[in-house]
Amino acid sequence: MSGSDVMITLQDIYRAKQQINGLIVRTPLIKSPALGERTGGSVYLKADNLQQTGSFKIRGAANKILALTPEERAQGVVAVSTGNHGRAVAYVGRALGIRAVICISGGVPSNKVTAIEQLGAEVIVHGDTYDDAEKLAWRLRDEQGLTMVDPFDDPFIIAGQGTVGLELLEDFPEVDTAVVPLSGGGLVSGVALALKSANPAIRVFGVSMERGPAMLRCLEAGKLIQIAEEETIADALVGNVGLKNQYTFRIVRSYVDDVVLVSEEEIAEAMAFALAEHHLVVEGGGAVGIAALLFDKLDKSGDNVAVVVSGGNVGLQMLLQIAGEWTSTSQ
Ligand SMILES: *Cc1c(COP(=O)(O)O)cnc(C)c1O
Repeated sequence: MSGSDVMITLQDIYRAKQQINGLIVRTPLIKSPALGERTGGSVYLKADNLQQTGSFKIRGAANKILALTPEERAQGVVAVSTGNHGRAVAYVGRALGIRAVICISGGVPSNKVTAIEQLGAEVIVHGDTYDDAEKLAWRLRDEQGLTMVDPFDDPFIIAGQGTVGLELLEDFPEVDTAVVPLSGGGLVSGVALALKSANPAIRVFGVSMERGPAMLRCLEAGKLIQIAEEETIADALVGNVGLKNQYTFRIVRSYVDDVVLVSEEEIAEAMAFALAEHHLVVEGGGAVGIAALLFDKLDKSGDNVAVVVSGGNVGLQMLLQIAGEWTSTSQ
């Protein structure tokens, strides 16, 4: 990229792709004629809900942990997570024989907590909010000499998530619009850097939930601010961008064309749509891009739209409830 303030290059993303190849799978790109009818063009789903650990988060986590020194690996890593990042760090830790401590808040769904424990990581539930869990993680880092694996604000994490963008360019070279779930912004930053390095005319949209869209509020304020966490079906998107954010806020501000919001009902509809139409299990945070297209949130979608489906770690009870309540108004 030409932006002088961006320290992550396309080369970094290609290097990440080489590094993490043995730990991830190539996820499919699935055509969605039903969504294409809504936009009047082609729409493909990038199904990273089918990724190892059930979300794209393993891409960044693997790239970060593989870059640690032997000394850092011997000490172990710590992460704070709404669930998916912790699961990814735990998975990579186990694969490489590295101690992993995962700090989560009481708000994380139990299916995600169980998955992290089953991978052999040390899980510590602390406080009610992401910010509470984060404070504990920093303390453990200092006390125990662990390396912090940030969920998004780290060049290695962003480059790892950017491999989603490389796969899109390879499998869908005509792509002119990418629709990407957005919380801390690691995913959309990596995808935007990859796609716009290839062609700056490709438009990249971020999608967040109405209930606590931290990055959008920072963009509107023109600076880093803290907002209250709210309960949402998109539990993977909960949390602040961080008042000390160094990378993702600037990258999103420079390279993301627009950020749109979806409601709780729209997210639930999108989850049911993915299940009914594509037989895909998609969690709330993973479905916001589908919701944005289903409910016509984008200013103008292009002819060749890629929607990143970022995760599938939804509890069965929740999924059955959503499927049972589906009115299929969107069919
Ligand atoms: C973490 C996560 C996101 C958001 O990624 P950021 O890099 O924080 O913007 C989106 N969807 C799912 C399923 C996630 O786990």
